[in-house]
Amino acid sequence: MAPRLIYITGTDTGVGKTIATAAIALSLRQQGLKVGVIKPVQCAGDDAAWLKKTLELPQPLSIINPIYAKEPLSPHFALRRARRQFKLSLIQSSLKAFDDYDVVLLEGAGGLLVPLSDNYTNANLAQDLNAELIIVSRRGLGTINHTQLTINAAAHHGLSIIGLIFNDAQPTAKSIPVSTNPNEIKRMTGVPVIAQIPFIKNVSRPKLLNHVKDFHWPKTTKANETLQLKELDKKYIWHPFTQMKDWLADSEQPLVINRAKGVYLYDTDGKKYIDGVSSLWVNVHGHGHPHIDRAIKQQVDKLSHSTFLGLSHDPAIKLAEELIHIAPKGLSKVFYSDNGSTAVEIALKQAYQYFQNTGQPKKQTLVHLTNSYHGDTLGSVSVGGIALFHQVYRGLIFKTHGLPGQGKETVKAFEAYLKKNATTTAALIIEPLVQGAAGMLMWPRGVLKKFRQLCTQYNVFLIVDEVATGFGRTGTMFACEHEGVTPDFLCIAKGITGGYLPLAATLTTQKIYDGFCFDYKDFKTFFHGHTYTANPLACSAALANLAIFRKEQTLAQLAPKIKHLAKSLKMFYNLPSVADVRQLGFMVGIELKGRLNDRIGAKVCQRARQYGVIIRPLGNVIVLLPPLSITTEELNKLINATFQAIKDYE
Ligand code: PMP
Repeated sequence: MAPRLIYITGTDTGVGKTIATAAIALSLRQQGLKVGVIKPVQCAGDDAAWLKKTLELPQPLSIINPIYAKEPLSPHFALRRARRQFKLSLIQSSLKAFDDYDVVLLEGAGGLLVPLSDNYTNANLAQDLNAELIIVSRRGLGTINHTQLTINAAAHHGLSIIGLIFNDAQPTAKSIPVSTNPNEIKRMTGVPVIAQIPFIKNVSRPKLLNHVKDFHWPKTTKANETLQLKELDKKYIWHPFTQMKDWLADSEQPLVINRAKGVYLYDTDGKKYIDGVSSLWVNVHGHGHPHIDRAIKQQVDKLSHSTFLGLSHDPAIKLAEELIHIAPKGLSKVFYSDNGSTAVEIALKQAYQYFQNTGQPKKQTLVHLTNSYHGDTLGSVSVGGIALFHQVYRGLIFKTHGLPGQGKETVKAFEAYLKKNATTTAALIIEPLVQGAAGMLMWPRGVLKKFRQLCTQYNVFLIVDEVATGFGRTGTMFACEHEGVTPDFLCIAKGITGGYLPLAATLTTQKIYDGFCFDYKDFKTFFHGHTYTANPLACSAALANLAIFRKEQTLAQLAPKIKHLAKSLKMFYNLPSVADVRQLGFMVGIELKGRLNDRIGAKVCQRARQYGVIIRPLGNVIVLLPPLSITTEELNKLINATFQAIKDYE
């Protein structure tokens, strides 16, 4: 087993990290552990040599300190002036010398945010090594602020902190701050205090050993924290779309994710995975995009939530204007909610009520397609056409009309239906071009446009559910654009916030809006509204998401990646177990042969984790739906891992 890595950082320079590191090593050795020490980067001084001597470390100095610069400056600067480069690989190869150790302590160069190269800090190094932290602090006045700043920076980087060590690097007179600060910081932050080391004149190993007996190591370690989380998950949680019997029986479940950056998700053991389905089709520009993170944080400081029933707020107003600006021409009103299903419910209810409000009460029927999926609330299930998900609830749902087929014949069936039933039909709801949840089923070009024409001709509303296809997923901002169609209702959710917070919207026309504007006494108000409608944090994330589309030219950047993806997918046809490969933009379905009951899709996706990829199947269909920001290189990794995982099951 690889050793546990502990990164020792300080709240400032001169807090005595090196002495603390030696004391920690001695304390852990007293517990019978084999402890190694590395000073990854050293600028001037002889800390590494002192540690080697004091702790009698057997490794050569070049292993204990792989990166050295002679000037006492910030490492990025000292290394630049020495014409040397910070290289993670040098530290990783030093670590190889400790393969059979229990613990390796890594003494950082200065505080957490000290740069080791131009855009790489101690915090990044601790992240990349998946190390836990011990923070060395001093006790005097000012330390509450410094220590909390370091703890916040650690949290920001998803680093887990074992505890604090207060070290008097200078002779320290007794004072109120000195005697109270450690406990106050523990109270304020919840981070345990491992030790308080008083000033030691002429530090030596025997003197340090005198103080090591006062160390208090917290009981939880990262490894058993993960185990505990797994146990608690199984004890308390019921997961969506999950057969919990299998979940409970599977010792590999759950994989607990605790941070993400770019297209990568990281589990609690620090293993990284490509987020191959954009965290269920929501992530657009990658995780931890600084622009969206900042927008949410700035909004938190102003307003986290205020009701939208009877009040308004600026992020929602600005976002509504932007949404109307990017939506197909003709849509002019935005009704907010908080997930895809509710965006659909709202469209269904508005379509139905419009006709009630405007003296056409017979127009009630909602029409949908075979294999349609519009969400899990009962209204959305009523217009759903996937037997596996929807059959069991048929006693609960309202009557709708399902159109047969998967293409031009469906258009014909719709026309025939309208000829007889237009006076009783309120709306047709469709997922444009791609039926996602059905397994990425693609619709022939022209069908959407034909549906639009028929709806207009027969005075029936067209509800387009772009919950999955919206925000660039098919190569254009909305799938409707492929056929120049403006629906009467546009339902959007998922990618609207870039995948950071729940938000949805139902966009509609002035005509429909006017069908609800009457005197209150007529009771024609749209009686619908969710508590978290237009949450300001989510709206701010959405504004940032749209700003990135403009700034990073996301759609222009995407076009060559879509082509590359199409080319790369050809190799899947050579696999005997592959029945079909379907793609539109960044929505891909690889259909495998075999019976649904064999759960081949689930097995392949589980296997893909071993190759560093998180994907989730739809029955026998392997779905690839990466963030739009994925690089070609990362895309290749995702494709190759998926290919290998399928091959392993042949
Ligand atoms: N409509 C479509 C087309 C979807 O793909 C989904 C979710 N996959 C939904 C609606 C439901 O969205 P939510 O899960 O946010 O309720």
